[in-house]
Amino acid sequence: MNLLELRDVRAAYGRITVLHGVDLAVAAGQVVALLGPNGAGKTTVLKTAAGVHPPSSGTLLLGGRDVTGAAPRDLARAGVCLIPEGRGVFPNLSVRDNLLMMTFTGRGREEIEEIAFSRFPILAKRASQAAGTMSGGEQQMLALARGLATDPAVLLLDELSMGLAPLVVGRLYEEVAEIARQGVAVLVVEQFAAAVLGIADQAAVLVRGRIERRGHPDDGLRAELSTLYMGSS
Ligand code: ATP
Repeated sequence: MNLLELRDVRAAYGRITVLHGVDLAVAAGQVVALLGPNGAGKTTVLKTAAGVHPPSSGTLLLGGRDVTGAAPRDLARAGVCLIPEGRGVFPNLSVRDNLLMMTFTGRGREEIEEIAFSRFPILAKRASQAAGTMSGGEQQMLALARGLATDPAVLLLDELSMGLAPLVVGRLYEEVAEIARQGVAVLVVEQFAAAVLGIADQAAVLVRGRIERRGHPDDGLRAELSTLYMGSS
């Protein structure tokens, strides 16, 4: 069953419509990649799915339930976790304190550290270090770990690869694939496609607020992407 579904979603900023009827579905255990050039509306899709930017029309479904217009905190409680572009970690706080903040979820500190450190052992080594002094990849791991602490049913990832070396991105996406295998529905937004296509079950290409192409991330789609939208991927 689809955990997350957007049906004919339109979204606007003021009078400017940026999503023109987007249909997208992500099942439990699945990774869906939403690709497309700058300004296509990819981040807006994630904001809509997280309730941060409600659609101007169309329907948002969570586990088959209509949650259109629900507040971000209600969607978060229902298991939707958005990891925004730029990671959203607190740079001046230590790794441990960044994790500690997630006790608002009702989980204890030890449980949260267990979740974080078992998936990303490097974070245990960095526990007392200020998050902002870690490498970009480590900060992204921390962002993912904070997300996992919420026990998400739906994970929304925005430009995980931003500013990171391909090797690091590949390693992060292996973890994302593992997270999905445990039953989470993962929607990943990326401008540059290569790494995420390696783990995605499905890909959709958004251009100027419309999904122009969708399918399995097979070689045909890869070739099309690299020539049509991405420049190089
Ligand atoms: P990028 O990769 O550059 O983040 P994107 O595909 O994620 O692009 P969005 O950030 O969703 O695209 O933006 C889609 C369109 O909406 C763009 O034209 C952008 O300028 C516009 N837009 C985004 N946020 C706002 C806002 N808060 N107010 C007004 N316009 C906005």
